Amino acid sequence: MELVDLKQQYKTYKADIDAAIEGVITTTSFINGEAVRTLEKQLQSYTAVNHAVLCSSGTDALLLAMMALGVKQDDEILVPAFTYVATASMMPLVGAKPIFVEVDPVSFNIDVSKIEEKITDRTVGIVPVSLYGQCADFDAINEIAARHGLWVMEDGAQSFGATYKGRKSCSLTRVATTSFFPAKPLGCYGDGGAIFTNDDELFAKLLLYRNHGQSKRYHHDVIGLNGRMDTLQAAIVSAKLNYFDDELRARNRIAKNYTEALSSCVTTPVINAQNISSWAQYTIRVSNRDEVSIHLERKGVPTAVHYPMPLPRQKAFAYLHDSSSYPVSDDCARTVLSLPMHPFLSDQEMCQICDAVMEVARV
Ligand SMILES: *Cc1c(COP(=O)(O)O)cnc(C)c1O
Repeated sequence: MELVDLKQQYKTYKADIDAAIEGVITTTSFINGEAVRTLEKQLQSYTAVNHAVLCSSGTDALLLAMMALGVKQDDEILVPAFTYVATASMMPLVGAKPIFVEVDPVSFNIDVSKIEEKITDRTVGIVPVSLYGQCADFDAINEIAARHGLWVMEDGAQSFGATYKGRKSCSLTRVATTSFFPAKPLGCYGDGGAIFTNDDELFAKLLLYRNHGQSKRYHHDVIGLNGRMDTLQAAIVSAKLNYFDDELRARNRIAKNYTEALSSCVTTPVINAQNISSWAQYTIRVSNRDEVSIHLERKGVPTAVHYPMPLPRQKAFAYLHDSSSYPVSDDCARTVLSLPMHPFLSDQEMCQICDAVMEVARV
């Protein structure tokens, strides 16, 4: 059994994916080939956003977006304390200081009621994460940001395909980012990411920063990155996008079955009525997490911990000397456990997983 079964996915779409790869190799247009622009157009229409900019990873998407927003030395940016490191780790690279905000124990997303107490004269923006595939409460967050003159950037690395009040993740904020890392809901066969915005000026800057700050061949207006997505990856994501909505439906069916089987014995995820999750992870909470994960491993069920340490506790951020406490994040880090989640999970595998969980799990 696999946590995310990419082999089964490839087998199922093999003809399409092989044709896409062969198409790119035949043209040898490996950088900025036609598939890049095609996928950008597909993603624009999928999310109903004016501009989608493909780039080299979800991490580079966050970096490029901050460069385009003009983030500078000593700017402060609010970010949830409980997320993957990349949400905050690009901030110091552009001179900014990540300011951690506690998360909500039910949604695992930024606790909206704890945002304002962290805003100072130096705050320029908020980077909420839509963790495990469920969107944060963006109407409330955008309202706070507007009141304080801040920008909002959704880190939608785990939530591409999710919806919030009927609107797609990555269309909900001034700018948004996602990742096509292979294990994300929509993955490529390597690294890849994208940035989304309706802002024409920001879009022009993103194109510049993505490609060495180059406005015309060998003319460089600003210091930029090589942050492009290669054509092969774009072609692969395009081929997979045709099946993506079916996959999301399968993920939602599987999540529902998990919750029906497990909610009486462990803390199961809660999706707000206004949201549809992309189920990047199906993450339960158990007080005896290590015991459960070892037991599941013995029974042939792989699990993962997303994430064992909140960001303010990471050595990399020790230089911030953050003295705030994050009891909810600490508790999440101690108790979360992600079960296998992918569109090809069979009923038989589900039974095997749920039986094993129920044998040892304690709330
Ligand atoms: C995966 C992930 C990223 C980074 O994406 P990469 O494509 O791996 O660089 C950033 N933020 C979150 C929340 C993620 O889950």
